[in-house]
Amino acid sequence: MGAAPLLSRSSPRADILFRDVHVLDPRSGLDGRHDVLVRAGEIAEIGAPGTLDGQGAESLDGQGRHHLLPAFFDCHVHLRTPGQEHKEDLETGTRAAAAGGFGAVIAMPNTDPVIDSAALLGSVREAAAREARVPVGFLPAITVGSAGIQLTEMAEMRDGGALGFTDDGRPVSDAGMMRRALSYQRLCGGVLALHEEDVTLAGDGVMHEGAVSAALGLAGIPSVSESVMVARDAALAAYEGGRVHFQHLSVRESVEAVAAAKAQGVAVSAEVTPHHLLLTDEQVRGLDSSTKVNPPLAAEEDRTALVDGLRSGVIDCVATDHAPHAREEKEVPFEQAPMGTTGLETAFAALYTELVLTGVIGLGLLVERMTAGAALFELPVHRVAVGQPANLTLVDLDAQWTAGEHGWESRAANSAFAGRRMHSRVLYTVAAGGVAYRERNFSLVAV
Ligand SMILES: [Zn+2]
Ligand SMILES: [Zn+2]
Repeated sequence: MGAAPLLSRSSPRADILFRDVHVLDPRSGLDGRHDVLVRAGEIAEIGAPGTLDGQGAESLDGQGRHHLLPAFFDCHVHLRTPGQEHKEDLETGTRAAAAGGFGAVIAMPNTDPVIDSAALLGSVREAAAREARVPVGFLPAITVGSAGIQLTEMAEMRDGGALGFTDDGRPVSDAGMMRRALSYQRLCGGVLALHEEDVTLAGDGVMHEGAVSAALGLAGIPSVSESVMVARDAALAAYEGGRVHFQHLSVRESVEAVAAAKAQGVAVSAEVTPHHLLLTDEQVRGLDSSTKVNPPLAAEEDRTALVDGLRSGVIDCVATDHAPHAREEKEVPFEQAPMGTTGLETAFAALYTELVLTGVIGLGLLVERMTAGAALFELPVHRVAVGQPANLTLVDLDAQWTAGEHGWESRAANSAFAGRRMHSRVLYTVAAGGVAYRERNFSLVAV
């Protein structure tokens, strides 16, 4: 495949001296105070604090306390281009990504029309090369229109830059179709990313099936709707020697199915969202439509199983499933509202606040899991190391803010975390060697 896997608009190659920052990158073995010099968009030198000469470079003073991390990688976002730009577009979605500390994202194809041909993939990639603030990769559809009837021209789209394929938003319901997709994957490569949902079990459900759905009198989606499909596709991947990635795991049984597949040596990986790691169906009691997501927020035992899976590595990475919707689309009765929450701007802060500050997981593990998605799609993982392209996020862990209090960089406001108190703030993001984001008050601490 000759096409560049990730595309963004060209921006000036940055010259920046990060002075006296706490560098944390588990892969590079760095966890301490350093100067980091970026020259022409590349990490040129890492030295003891106060020792590097940043002549001609912009100098940012970390005061020994701001943390410099490898920029995060999100392998699951909805940027809504083409056809749904009233929700989000490549510019606003990647602006939200940069504000959340993400240096690259992978966009889903459930747009209007669905990205299911080499021509459509080519046009959205051209748009990314004009508009995106951070590099964007694409997963076009597995089946035409994601309708589950006919395979797309996978090999042709692979040549055109597809990182893999997904019918996200929908499952590939037909097992024979999934088997055919796996056999084509053997020829053309790329990862099959799977939204797992047995639609005959999910039915008309609008939330997780359990005590809360019973109390609210709402139709529920049972846990097995997801987990039986995870188990089925792990078995098919094993049989065909394929490579599958399970999107947005949400229940304990799915974590167990992934663990079993990995134990058998099947080539599977999995992601989990911040909202599934931190929220449960209890949050749905208020019938706030921003808590209506697919898969639905599940029970506390599911949430803790997801956290345990992330910690153990059964779940490989965090992905946001950033799913923006227009205000008028979400401001309808709960049962009628579309599913999805935004996530890019709150992911790190929410997880830092609720999992790291509480001692559930370490900061190094969180950074590892928020950058690991790249490797799953055969892309280089962001690292803080000399000679690497600058993909860096500067974070103030002591800052506090309320999610949504000053609006959003995203076009959409449907955040399940809106109004929550957050610790830590992204100050500055460098993506592919160019400055992608600067927090509006941050100039006060730059020197
Ligand atoms: Zn999905
Ligand atoms: Zn999705």
